[in-house]
Amino acid sequence: MPINGVVFDLDNTLYAYAPCNRAGQVAVVKFLALHLGLPASQVRQAWEASRQTVHKRLAKQAASHARLFYAQGAIELLLGRTDIRLTLQADEVFWSAYLRTMRLRPGMRALLQQIKRWGWRLGIASDLTTVWQMKKLQRLGLAKMFDDIVTSEEAGCEKPNPRMIRLLLRKMQRRSHQVVLIGDSHARDRQVAVACGIPFLQLASNADVSAVRRALTAKQN
Ligand SMILES: [Mg+2]
Repeated sequence: MPINGVVFDLDNTLYAYAPCNRAGQVAVVKFLALHLGLPASQVRQAWEASRQTVHKRLAKQAASHARLFYAQGAIELLLGRTDIRLTLQADEVFWSAYLRTMRLRPGMRALLQQIKRWGWRLGIASDLTTVWQMKKLQRLGLAKMFDDIVTSEEAGCEKPNPRMIRLLLRKMQRRSHQVVLIGDSHARDRQVAVACGIPFLQLASNADVSAVRRALTAKQN
């Protein structure tokens, strides 16, 4: 049965995640330190404590990554109460810096265009809330590139739970043996591919896309 679809992971697969997350954190810590009149080190500690608490409480759910919750919790730790206006502003500051730092992985646009020329269907399966994953794709200039998207928020669970991929395959109108899954993570992407019986191609953080391109071309012929 020929391959005629690709399921892509988003974060750290289409672009490098670490510099974006770092830029977001630096910006939000600076913003809160300025507005609260506190040392940056104290704000950074509160942000990290909040992040860990949220991550633990909401493990395996999309909202465990919600910077809105990290900001809310950090502000609550620092002020002893919720500040809605500041929380919303902090979330905005984080994501503005994050999105500004995003760069599409070199060679990725050409690879995606090649896949489309083959007439294959392109899907995204990604762990986070839908609003930010859509904004990321838009920022990368890929708003019209993908045919289908499912996030962990929409699926109600994260990778490697296979439910997210099953929902995406239904949208893509593809069976597992008709697609390839491409992602950066062993624990999430490879595991979910194995669970669903889908061939997996890893795109490690600093790897260029040519090896993946060759592997897909071989499947196309
Ligand atoms: Mg990833």
